[in-house]
Amino acid sequence: MLKTWAVVPTCLPLILRRCHACASERFRASGKFRVNANHKLLDAWLLALCTACGETAKLTVFERTNVRSIAPELLNRLHDNDPGLAAELLQDPVLRRRNRIALDWGDAWRLDTGGSDDLDSEVIDVSVRFAARIPVRPVRLIAEGCGLSRAEVERLIKEGKLVSAFRLSGKLSGDFTFTLKCWG
Ligand SMILES: [Zn+2]
Repeated sequence: MLKTWAVVPTCLPLILRRCHACASERFRASGKFRVNANHKLLDAWLLALCTACGETAKLTVFERTNVRSIAPELLNRLHDNDPGLAAELLQDPVLRRRNRIALDWGDAWRLDTGGSDDLDSEVIDVSVRFAARIPVRPVRLIAEGCGLSRAEVERLIKEGKLVSAFRLSGKLSGDFTFTLKCWG
């Protein structure tokens, strides 16, 4: 029995960055952009708001970049405040490094198991697909997907009834598979 689960974002992750106004460490992307033109050089920022005081932070998308080296499609999306663009840009490790931010996915994702109808099979193979690189604990994910406690999942791993070619301890943010034996 092969099942596919999906880890899907439900909203934008929070942005971890210290606020200069109130020392809070969380911002929320506003979904809006600002583009500045100085002759042929453009700057573009993604605007984020402090979750505590509402202060605006500008995250650099690009700076002092010649207009001709920017894809017109990107420029249009920036000008239109394209709702999907903030999510795409926050996924970009280069942008995160440049702005010295990290992401807090907290409750900004859900696990879609496609129903738990077949969990009475002897052996199930589960393929977990990530729609975005969201760091989650596989143990937590498996517990949620199978309706078990985390302690029960840990026990199944110890007993060799839950096996994977991937490390199930710690966090994963990319596709993985596991097999659950002697279930039910
Ligand atoms: Zn603040």
